[in-house]
Amino acid sequence: MAYKILLVEDSATELKFLKSGLEQNGFEIETAISGSEAYKKIYTYAPDIVVSDIVMPAIDGYQLCRMIKNDDETKKIPVILLTVMDKKIDAFWGKKSGAQLFLSKSIDIKELVAQINATIRRYPVKDEYKTALISKAESASTAQFKLNNILNDLLMKSTFSNEFRNLSDFLNYERILVEKLFSLLSSFVEYHVAGIYFASPDEFAENILYFDTLGRNLSKTLLNDICRDFFKSMAEHKTVKNSKFEVVKMLLGKEVDYQISDFTSKIIIPLIFDRKLIGGICFYTRREVDYSSFRFFDIMISELLAIFKMKYQYNEKEFMSVLDGLTGLYNRRQFEISLEQEYNRTKRHPADFSLAILDIDFFKKVNDTYGHQYGDYVLKTVADLLKQSFRKTDLLYRYGGEEMVIIMPETYIEGAVIPVQRLRSVVEEYDFEYNGIKSKATVSIGLTMNYQDFTSSADILKSADDALYKAKESGRNRVVVHEQ
Ligand code: GH3
Ligand code: MG
Ligand code: MG
Repeated sequence: MAYKILLVEDSATELKFLKSGLEQNGFEIETAISGSEAYKKIYTYAPDIVVSDIVMPAIDGYQLCRMIKNDDETKKIPVILLTVMDKKIDAFWGKKSGAQLFLSKSIDIKELVAQINATIRRYPVKDEYKTALISKAESASTAQFKLNNILNDLLMKSTFSNEFRNLSDFLNYERILVEKLFSLLSSFVEYHVAGIYFASPDEFAENILYFDTLGRNLSKTLLNDICRDFFKSMAEHKTVKNSKFEVVKMLLGKEVDYQISDFTSKIIIPLIFDRKLIGGICFYTRREVDYSSFRFFDIMISELLAIFKMKYQYNEKEFMSVLDGLTGLYNRRQFEISLEQEYNRTKRHPADFSLAILDIDFFKKVNDTYGHQYGDYVLKTVADLLKQSFRKTDLLYRYGGEEMVIIMPETYIEGAVIPVQRLRSVVEEYDFEYNGIKSKATVSIGLTMNYQDFTSSADILKSADDALYKAKESGRNRVVVHEQ
């Protein structure tokens, strides 16, 4: 039986020429002069192969090919694209659209016949497949409709990818990254509670599961249950010590009394890269939903994986380094090491050291008003003022987001108050200016020292923290000294 070719070509002369050439070689030919006509004929004619011109008005050869390959009903039919243009570009787009082969239009007919035969033999279409096609001819959607769907999908996917790529600007600030991720996720997936967890290469780091409850005020018990449930599943990939949760968005209204058993659907996805757990996400919903059937779910996961990879690599770099990338101060890990050392040293060889913890006042407002870049500038500048205000022997650290710590070795608290107060007023007087925007800032500081009755370095830190809290409570822009 002769092979059936659907030949698609908008130029009448070319079409005639090709048709007769192929017929002489024993093929059965059906023709179409446009992409949309061809698409309909796939169903009514059920060919063994489609041979199509690329350049055609309206729906072109690539698009036709994409429509054929995008649909289970038609994708097994091989497609050869005929090109007159630059081969490399065609090869690229031809591959993207899923064509089996692309040939130059100037190929001689013998060679074309040989290639068609070879392609049909390589990708034979079964009779049942063709029968199924014909049976669907009536109900098959129109080419324009399918094409629109494909274009919409592509547009969605690229928008989606772009949104995710933009998140890479926030690797240094986990909280913002998480907020932005949630706002993206919530526009694609349905949930009552979603969780995001970034694993750290530092085994002593806290494992935080960030929650988005879409503003609902859910009970601590419930969130604890979910947190446990989540990390239980992570434990298959990594031993997770000291885990906790944080809710990123404001909790609104009265507490809602949900139980974990009310969440009839859940999905917990560990994100693995290079055989390491780099994080995870979870969704819990009070409705029967099949998460994997969500449109774009698989793309979302692969985009998430890309972001989590970047975040993990960023964390690794931080973990390996001694300095904080933004401020140039020592980082938190160094602080923890130094504080412990200093504490032990002064236990063995009695000596004093003071410790101050500083927090920028209303810093969230700076970000909200002028943007995070401006916030970063303020942070960096405060760090610079810190460097100028203390002695070379004092040790400066970025403790957290907008919190910095100063360890002043060999300094009794009376001596420490002086530079700390000076720093407070230097910040207050400083005129911040970045990209033409001027602003003012103040800091609150808690000050303490290694008093005799402290029995651990953690006690010292806590006393500084308490003093800082008092400074905030009593009006900010001040130094509060922890009294023994
Ligand atoms: P308070 O006076 O009580 O300290 O108010 P606050 O707004 O400073 O307090 P809060 O701790 O709630 O906010 C800290 C803000 O710091 C939240 C976050 O937006 C911002 N932040 C933390 N780290 C960074 C960072 O690296 N860059 C920028 N731009 N902002 C950061
Ligand atoms: Mg603050
Ligand atoms: Mg703070």
